[in-house]
Amino acid sequence: TNPSDVLRKQFAEVVEEEKQLSLGLDKLRDLPCVTLDGHRMPLWVNTGLLADVARAQKRGAEGVGLYRTEVPFMINQRFPSEKEQLAIYREQLAAFHPQPVTMRSLDIGGDKSLSYFPIKEDNPFLGWRGIRVTLDHPEIFLVQTRAMLKASEGLNNLRILLPMISGIHELEEALHLIHRAWGEVRDEGTDVPMPPIGVMIEIPAAVYQTKELARMVDFLSVGSNDLTQYLLAVDRNNPRVADLYDYLHPAVLQALQNVVRDAHAEGKPVSICGEMAGDPAAAVLLMAMGFDSLSMNATNLPKVKWMLRQINLSKAKELLAELMTIDNPQVIHSSLQLALKNLGLARMINPASVKTL
Ligand code: PEP
Ligand code: MG
Repeated sequence: TNPSDVLRKQFAEVVEEEKQLSLGLDKLRDLPCVTLDGHRMPLWVNTGLLADVARAQKRGAEGVGLYRTEVPFMINQRFPSEKEQLAIYREQLAAFHPQPVTMRSLDIGGDKSLSYFPIKEDNPFLGWRGIRVTLDHPEIFLVQTRAMLKASEGLNNLRILLPMISGIHELEEALHLIHRAWGEVRDEGTDVPMPPIGVMIEIPAAVYQTKELARMVDFLSVGSNDLTQYLLAVDRNNPRVADLYDYLHPAVLQALQNVVRDAHAEGKPVSICGEMAGDPAAAVLLMAMGFDSLSMNATNLPKVKWMLRQINLSKAKELLAELMTIDNPQVIHSSLQLALKNLGLARMINPASVKTL
């Protein structure tokens, strides 16, 4: 990221904030996210920097569904020590306490690189990333887990999330390391309970193993950004194929439905933390599928809350059932927009897509 990108992003955020104020969305802050027919939908937030915490709280987030720990690693000049990590994680946990904070283990590789740990590959998204890196470097994983556990002492609102899991064996190895770290910090006198552990479902292989994975953990969280890219074989960052990148593609919708079905069959809650959850129209469908919580960036949270407070769960389920019979992604988009427009809810659909109506 160069400085002009940062400025552009900040400017866009200020503009968005003004727009939301003019729509009165700031008044939703203390109201619950509940549908017209009484269904509660917890809205969580994605964070990376400490600055995200204040923005999230200003908008009434109920917890952190995804804290991307690679962000503090990326702005550092070298691997942060256990002590440095502990301090950073403690800030996040303390700021949200008693609400839950879901900390994802280091997810580098792919599009996220550390200047002091370069990874050079022809196919980075199919290469050494996420849990693959940290299982090959257990010392990095152990230090990070120890720091998270120590940071949660007395707060006990930590949840640990594992990225890029493609099979049972990786999860077994990661769980083994977490238990080892837990034993170590307890031997050193830190009295913390074992936190809830979750797995990200963001690789097609994981979709097909949802039940087996769910049995081994406390919760699941779908990473729709990567799941969309891997299901459709479309690079999430390549503008040339951006038209093909579509989380409303019927294959993606079917995968999401199956994940919820299989997680619930094992009695485990399932959340979603990709960009899709922050799209108010898509959020209607995710709620209808039965996701237990939605996690998004703070900017989109009021828009999603506004939308879900205007709709009935029963209506959302009808709409989902109708859309699931459509095989053309474009028709899914236009049908969804039209249905929400007919319900008088066009206001919060993103303007670019409204224009195509
Ligand atoms: C995702 O893949 O959807 C996700 C939430 O993680 P990230 O965007 O950090 O890869
Ligand atoms: Mg991901």
